Amino acid sequence: MIQRIRSGSLDGIDGFEVVVEVDAGRGLPSFQLVGLPSTAVRESRERVLSALRNSGLSWPKGRVVVNLAPVDVEKKGPSVDLAIAVGVCGVTERADPGGRGEAVLLGELSLDGALRPVRGLLAIVTAAAAAGRRQFVVPRSQAREAALVPEVTILAAGSLAEVVHWRAGRGRLDEIVPEPPVAAARRPSPSLLAYLALAPARARRLAVLAAAGRHDLLLVGPPGTGKTMLSRVVGSLQPGLARAESLEVARIHGAAGLLTSAAPVPGRPFRAPHHTATRAGLLGGGASLRPGEVTLAHRGILFLDEVSEFTPGVLDALREPLEEGRVAVARGAGIRFWPADVQLVAAMNPCRCGWYGSRRRPCRCTERLRTAHRSRLSGPLLDRIDIFAELEEPEDPLRGDDVADPSRLWERAVGEVEVGNARLAGSHRARPASLAEARGLMDAPAATLLEAAGGSLGLTVRSLMRCAGVARTLAALGDRSLANRDDVVEALSYRREQIASLA
Ligand SMILES: [Zn+2]
Repeated sequence: MIQRIRSGSLDGIDGFEVVVEVDAGRGLPSFQLVGLPSTAVRESRERVLSALRNSGLSWPKGRVVVNLAPVDVEKKGPSVDLAIAVGVCGVTERADPGGRGEAVLLGELSLDGALRPVRGLLAIVTAAAAAGRRQFVVPRSQAREAALVPEVTILAAGSLAEVVHWRAGRGRLDEIVPEPPVAAARRPSPSLLAYLALAPARARRLAVLAAAGRHDLLLVGPPGTGKTMLSRVVGSLQPGLARAESLEVARIHGAAGLLTSAAPVPGRPFRAPHHTATRAGLLGGGASLRPGEVTLAHRGILFLDEVSEFTPGVLDALREPLEEGRVAVARGAGIRFWPADVQLVAAMNPCRCGWYGSRRRPCRCTERLRTAHRSRLSGPLLDRIDIFAELEEPEDPLRGDDVADPSRLWERAVGEVEVGNARLAGSHRARPASLAEARGLMDAPAATLLEAAGGSLGLTVRSLMRCAGVARTLAALGDRSLANRDDVVEALSYRREQIASLA
C-alpha cells in the first residue's frame, strides 16, 4: 500500500507543495529516498529513523521507498521530515479516519522525535493555502506564525508521536485560534525621542516630509549629526503596515529565517546593510537563494550608511531594483522577480575625513580629495534621490533655552504626517511621471517659478519632476491640494545643485 502525505518546502522566498509517497514491500530491509533530494533531505533519512526509534514507533521491516514529488524541483531544508516519518510508520497502519490524511504536515525532526521549526514556514503555508489546502500540522513554536494565513486550520504539535497518534484517530492536537490583527502603534524608542528633542527644526521638518511622501533621501553631514537617527525617525513616523502587507513582509523575513516566535509579525522593515555588503547580499539570490537586503527592506526603508564607501558596481546593481520596485533573481535557467519596494535613505560624510563644515574639528582633506569623495556616488543613484539634505551639528544641548518636550514634538510630527498621508492617499509616492503631470500638481505661479528656477539652476527634466513631487508633499503637509510658490522654493532647496558639499 502506498501512503501519500502532503508537505511543503521552500524555494527562495516562495513555498511549494511536496507530496511524500511511501511504499513498503518485501525484500531486504532498506530505506531509500528518491526525488532529487538535496544533501539536507538525505540527512533527513537519518533523523527520521532515529526519531521513529526514539518515539517507540514501528516501521516496516522490509524495503521502504520514499519519493518526494514533484521530482524536478530540488527540496531544500528539512521541512519534509515530519511527513516522511508519518508516512513511513503509516504504511503499517490502517488508513486514517476523518480526513486527517489530507492535512499538510510540516516540521523538522530532532533525533528524539521532537518537532523543530522550519525556515520559511509562512511561505510554505501560504502557497499550500493558495492551492486549496485547509488543514496544517506545524511545530508548536511556529503555530502563531502559521496562523497569520487567513482561512486555514492550524494544529500545533510538539512531537512526531503526537502527530502519528492524532492521524490514527487516537489523540488530539491543539487548534490555534488566530489572534486578531493589532495595528502597531507608532511608538518611538527613548533614543529617538532624545534625538528629536535636540535635533534642529529643519531636521524634524525633513523627517516629516520624507515620511509623508516616502521620498528617497540623501543625508550629508559630519559624524554626530544624527544621520542614522533621522532615518529611523522617518520609518517610525510612517503608519503601520496593512494586514496583507505585514503578511507579505513576514513571509519574506521568515524565508530568511528572521522571524522569532515572540514576534511573528514584523513592523515596517528598516534594513541597514554594511558598506562591505556584496551584490548577492544586497540583491539576493546566489547559491542559497536567500532574499537580499533590498527585498528584506520591502515596504520599509533601505538605509545605506556611508553610501560612498559601497563598491560602485554594487551600488549600480541597485539602480534597477530601486527604479522598478522589484529585483530579478536568476533561478536555474529562468528569472524570478522578488518584491523590493523600498524607500532609500542614503547617508554620507561631506568629505573623506568626515569633518568638512564641522565646527568641532577641522577638515584635513585637500580640495582634490573632497572632489574625489563626492564623485564616488554614481549618477544613476543620485538621479533617484528626491531630497538632498545637509545636516548641521546640533546646538549645545546645555544651551538652557526652552528644550522642547520630546513627546509633544513626536505627537506633532505624527499629526503632520497623518495630514499629509490623508491628502496623498491613493497617489502612492506623489511622484509625477511627466512634466505636464508635474505642472498639474501646482498652481500657475508655482509652475512658472519651477520652470524659471530649473533653467537658471540647470536642472534636468528628471530633477524638475522630483522637485514637483516634493512640492506636492509639502502642499499635502499644509493640507492644500496644489503646491504654491513657497512649496516650490522649499523643494528647490533640497536639490543637489543647492548643496555646497555635493554641487
Ligand atoms: Zn575632510
